[in-house]
Amino acid sequence: MRVDILTLFPGILEGALNASLLGRAIEKGLVTVAVTNIRDFATDRHRTVDDEPYGGGAGMVMQCGPIYGAVESLRGRNSLERVVLMSPRGRPLTQAVVRELAAAPDLVLLCARYEGVDERVSRDLVTDEISIGDYVLSGGELPALVVVEAVSRMLPGVIGDWESVETDSFYSGILGPPQYTRPPEFRGMEVPAVLREGNHAAIARWRRKEALRVTRARRPDLLNDSEMAPDDRKLLAELDREARATERENEP
Ligand code: SAH
Repeated sequence: MRVDILTLFPGILEGALNASLLGRAIEKGLVTVAVTNIRDFATDRHRTVDDEPYGGGAGMVMQCGPIYGAVESLRGRNSLERVVLMSPRGRPLTQAVVRELAAAPDLVLLCARYEGVDERVSRDLVTDEISIGDYVLSGGELPALVVVEAVSRMLPGVIGDWESVETDSFYSGILGPPQYTRPPEFRGMEVPAVLREGNHAAIARWRRKEALRVTRARRPDLLNDSEMAPDDRKLLAELDREARATERENEP
């Protein structure tokens, strides 16, 4: 997969693109990330990329010209079928959106700054707008890195052990189960026995149940009753019974 990131601040992206799993994925050629400086496509002597908003008001707006120039310069290297503007007004990023983006052969991620881009860019050049959450950052660079990292985890070969992707939070629509590592006992706190006993079916069942428990406690909105597998329904009923039993025990 190829990802082109368009930005006024390439420096923000460098460290993150070279480090850890993402850096290795790029090194192995599983994903190619190219950064283009929008300022290189300014046409005046001062290399201007922004101007005051029509109608007045605070801040500056990124102009159409340099952005169109930067996107069009990618022709031949990128299909330009998905030109994604990072924007707080965009579609909220979820694992489902990540998977959809990971299925594309290439992406363009457009990072804005200041008050954002001229509306004509979003109307005409951009195919998708994506938000990483209901808060405002000063630029689209961190959101673009979030997209690249989440998308690259979905590409074959990036995560050595696919099972670790499958048990991640959200992969199967719910939060992930709790994890433990050595030592078996720390300051009086023990690792659940089932995880140490090596019965794989029992471990898988325990993990699914604990994942359902934490999802119901923290993100009940993720548990869609109509789509729930019969096994999950059974586990949730078990959790209910256990909760009722604890309640009875605690009665005065
Ligand atoms: N005035 C704009 C915000 C501009 S913030 C508004 O109210 O919608 C500057 C840029 O940072 C945005 O254009 C976008 O590219 C990026 N950005 C800020 N918050 C973001 C978020 N939650 N998700 C994705 N991109 C964001």
